[in-house]
Amino acid sequence: MKSVLAAASMLAALFCASLPARAQNPACEQETSVVTLPTKGGPAYGGMQYPRSAGLGLKQVALTFDDGPNPDTTPLILDILDRHCVKATFFMVGIYAERHPDIVREVAARGHTIGTHSWSHPNNLRHYSPANAQSQIRRGFDAVETALASAPAADRERLAPFFRFPGLNDSKTLIGWLGERNIATFSCEFGADDWKSISSAQVRIRALRNIAYVGRGILILHDTKPRTAAMLSGLIEALRADGYSFARLAPEEGARALAAAAPDPLIRPVRRADAPSEPGATLGAALKPSLEPQTALQ
Ligand SMILES: [Zn+2]
Repeated sequence: MKSVLAAASMLAALFCASLPARAQNPACEQETSVVTLPTKGGPAYGGMQYPRSAGLGLKQVALTFDDGPNPDTTPLILDILDRHCVKATFFMVGIYAERHPDIVREVAARGHTIGTHSWSHPNNLRHYSPANAQSQIRRGFDAVETALASAPAADRERLAPFFRFPGLNDSKTLIGWLGERNIATFSCEFGADDWKSISSAQVRIRALRNIAYVGRGILILHDTKPRTAAMLSGLIEALRADGYSFARLAPEEGARALAAAAPDPLIRPVRRADAPSEPGATLGAALKPSLEPQTALQ
């Protein structure tokens, strides 16, 4: 009997190991609320820097994760989010999306929103020439689109016309340039200092303190940080215990097509397999590297 059980569990382990690790938690009774946001003209969201907030309700928090995907920590964070039935938004760095396209597809398959965060995360795009800064942004979008190219259409649609400046170091000119392409810019309402050398307990304490102070909004975290993965479960539980709920940021219906229809677009329409393709609509032409990473990633 023992050996039958052992064989069965071995078989189960083998079977599980061969499955893609993409299953969402079937025990989730409710989907995370979705806050849909206009992107036409490139509005900038987030009260820390801009007058406009994402319109979250009182005690509603949108979790956002920057700087990934990271093979050591992003999968942990995806599992924690699934376990707690929370959907979030990931602002990805192009070179990591290029290096780990399977994780980009995994984030999309699990139902999260994806935005971009430049090609190589330079500290301050303001210090770049317009052409180099624009190339940084463009290559970030291209890398995520390429990673998702083999994914089902529903997953490809997870890439939103959303951009977040590295270090939140924006420029009016670049926001305007993004706006001409109907790409929205995202700041936040609060952070948790998870990029600093502090303990995971400190990250959790700072997140809770900052959230309580404002009461609603977008939280910036980093899915590249083990301290963030270590405290995330506790943070979600503490917020829920205090009456908070979570929301996923998403572009409003048609936003992606609107961005794709802009002159010199940064993002392309998602074509269903049965939809006729347009000549010249392939990604290849846009993917020629024109700028090497110039700054060490943080
Ligand atoms: Zn960043």
